[in-house]
Amino acid sequence: RGYTAWDPTSPAFIKRHGNGATLCIPTAYCSYTGDALDKKTPLLRSRQALGNAVKKLMKSFGLPDEHVTITLGPEQEYFLIDKNFYLNRPDLVQTGRTLFGAPPAKHQQLEDHYFGSIKPRILNFMSDVEQELWRLGIPAKTRHNEVAPAQFELAPLFEDVNLAIDHNMLVMEVLRQQASKHGLVCLLHEKPFAGVNGSGKHNNWSISYGNKNLLDPGSDPQQNAIFLTVLTAIIEAVDKHSDLLRNSVASAGNDHRLGANEAPPAIISIFLGAQLNEVIENMINGSSGCGKRNDTLKIGVDTLPVLPRDATDRNRTSPFAFTGNRFEFRAVGSEANCASAMIALNSALAEQLTEFKKDVDELMEKGEPKISAILDVIRKYIKICKPIHFDGNGYSDEWKAEAKKRGLDCETSVPLIFDNYLKPESIRMFESVNVMTRKELEARNEVKWETYTKKIQIEARVLGDLAMNHIIPVATQYQTDLIDNVYKMKDLFPAEKAAKLSAKNLELIEEIADRTTFIKEHVDAMIEARKVANKIESERDKAIAYHDNIVPMMEEIRYHIDKLELIVDNQMWTLPKYRELLFIR
Ligand code: ADP
Ligand code: MG
Repeated sequence: RGYTAWDPTSPAFIKRHGNGATLCIPTAYCSYTGDALDKKTPLLRSRQALGNAVKKLMKSFGLPDEHVTITLGPEQEYFLIDKNFYLNRPDLVQTGRTLFGAPPAKHQQLEDHYFGSIKPRILNFMSDVEQELWRLGIPAKTRHNEVAPAQFELAPLFEDVNLAIDHNMLVMEVLRQQASKHGLVCLLHEKPFAGVNGSGKHNNWSISYGNKNLLDPGSDPQQNAIFLTVLTAIIEAVDKHSDLLRNSVASAGNDHRLGANEAPPAIISIFLGAQLNEVIENMINGSSGCGKRNDTLKIGVDTLPVLPRDATDRNRTSPFAFTGNRFEFRAVGSEANCASAMIALNSALAEQLTEFKKDVDELMEKGEPKISAILDVIRKYIKICKPIHFDGNGYSDEWKAEAKKRGLDCETSVPLIFDNYLKPESIRMFESVNVMTRKELEARNEVKWETYTKKIQIEARVLGDLAMNHIIPVATQYQTDLIDNVYKMKDLFPAEKAAKLSAKNLELIEEIADRTTFIKEHVDAMIEARKVANKIESERDKAIAYHDNIVPMMEEIRYHIDKLELIVDNQMWTLPKYRELLFIR
């Protein structure tokens, strides 16, 4: 039995459909025993925990009581493809991503889609999406083409974290509905196409106290002390619980995206930028000094205005980057509910701020003046969490090696990453800030493992079915035509000449035979491996078996299907190819 409670902090809204309309009320959902069954309840708890921790900290800075707002601006990436193509790709319909498809000659190499103008058909779609979102009270603001062909982005103005998440859920719904009206399909999967960029949901996150953004570096010493305190607490929280952040973004879909094609690496690190680094280095060396030093850009053209330069540089390869007045958590997947990531971040920071205050209080009890106590604690934390701090190129292989050397968590197996939730220090942290109990964490993990298994299971079955009832029959049909041709050549020409003229067809015949044999054998083996995995009782072990045994088989089968796609007669190949799917007319 479940109970629902209206969430008065997220306004009710009206969904229109045809001639009707439905009043929707954002709602929390818990069990008969009072355990949270949803994402909203722990999110609201984490908002409360962080709010209280911030208030206590501000009080110790001698500031009057103000309202704390945790702010989130989620940038949503998505793909649009023509509905007719979509309906002809059973893998897209059933799994949300293409399970095979040879790379097209032209994809995103020229970056012409990213820098090009938005096509009229897409612009019409985007304007309709925005109209619909504004009707729902959602502050949609930015729209643009993304890097992969057929990929786009929508960003709203930031709002309170709870509202922003409810709104993001609606954004995804409206994108899908409006796409359908325009003869398009919106793909929210993290990696619909191999070899080009995947989609994420960059979570821009900050904290406001009254009207003041706490991550806005100020110009006076008091403001700077607050800024540095919050900043170091965040760095320390991310360092301590990087495994939880990694866990909060892990899913079967995002697994394909992280670490590939311009996506943040699957290793959590934090980017601060040149100016902040300088401040932090100064702190460690004992000299303090901070403050905005905005200068201007010199473009060298008299008719152009002087442009102000941002105080911070940007690094788009970091999974967690400081971007001037907020952090941007880029590892979140496009299909995800941001709540998981926000729950982990808010909770870890709430714990850290409380600890920070405790440390400062201890020093003050020993007679140290407040400001010097704060600076001492900041220095201590900064020294401890140096390994998590990385400003270089997160996409590079050198970073993977370096991260390992630094002892950062580099685990890539999603089912094993889920374990992070149940580590003693994670449970202790979530319980200490009253966000989630051990039981609630365990329940969520069961669901995560089960979902992972089922997603891979469905994909493996779709791939196996299509291999057997589409790929192999089509390839064999083409092979039969080739064989027919070889025999007819023999009738037409003297034996030696016929053999010479048929050489290339004989090669193709053999290649098709080799590849289809490989595919058939591996589809059979994959079915057997699934049978073994399905018998495993524990959801965790089952998910591990699917990850370790089924996923690599799918990749091997795909490899040969993609090779066949390149040689089989195009007229026979009825499934739309990447070169068609990715280019909207
Ligand atoms: P970019 O693509 O350059 O990273 P966008 O303009 O697409 O930037 O998105 C930036 C997002 O960050 C927007 O949703 C914006 O409202 C949000 N944002 C700006 N300031 C804050 C803040 N203080 N807290 C949370 N989000 C913020
Ligand atoms: Mg953007």
